[in-house]
Amino acid sequence: MVSKSDFESDCARCQALCCIAPTFEKSETFAYSKPAGEVCKHLMTDNRCAIHEELAEHGFSGCGAYECFGAGQKVVQAHFPNQSWRNDPALAREVFDTYFTIKALHELLVYLVEGIEYCDGAELQTDFNSLIDEIEARTQPGARLPDADEIEAYRQAVSKLLSVAREQRIDPELA
Ligand code: SF4
Repeated sequence: MVSKSDFESDCARCQALCCIAPTFEKSETFAYSKPAGEVCKHLMTDNRCAIHEELAEHGFSGCGAYECFGAGQKVVQAHFPNQSWRNDPALAREVFDTYFTIKALHELLVYLVEGIEYCDGAELQTDFNSLIDEIEARTQPGARLPDADEIEAYRQAVSKLLSVAREQRIDPELA
């Protein structure tokens, strides 16, 4: 059974995927624009940020607020163990695509793990646990990663369960 701690980011076990994989648009929270897959100019070769202690001062406060929900370390440690996009640039696209998919699934799992705490009915808890198990299984190495349509279907299923849980909190007789 998963718990909230499974979705806490652990940068020390990642390879700075969030500093490379996403697109960043110049804004108040990110000081320059970069395309997806391009290494941030502040990332050092040991995968540490050169301005980590002064992100806000340099106009990168968005980096401090960014959350991967533990996807980074799972992709690096479980999906691509002993491999590195730095040593194998051809691998980079696959690593980054996997990262975005796992991040989306982990975000949904966080909603479910938090939402189940507010479920009153045993039947609804079973529904939450079933969906948690199903989505979590898709994040494991060897499982077929869901495509965009499947992720959207999961998103709608999560949203529906959360709505039911909310309604039960408002009207306990629904439980
Ligand atoms: S500024 Fe630092 S934390 Fe932000 S993307 Fe660049 S290297 Fe990563």
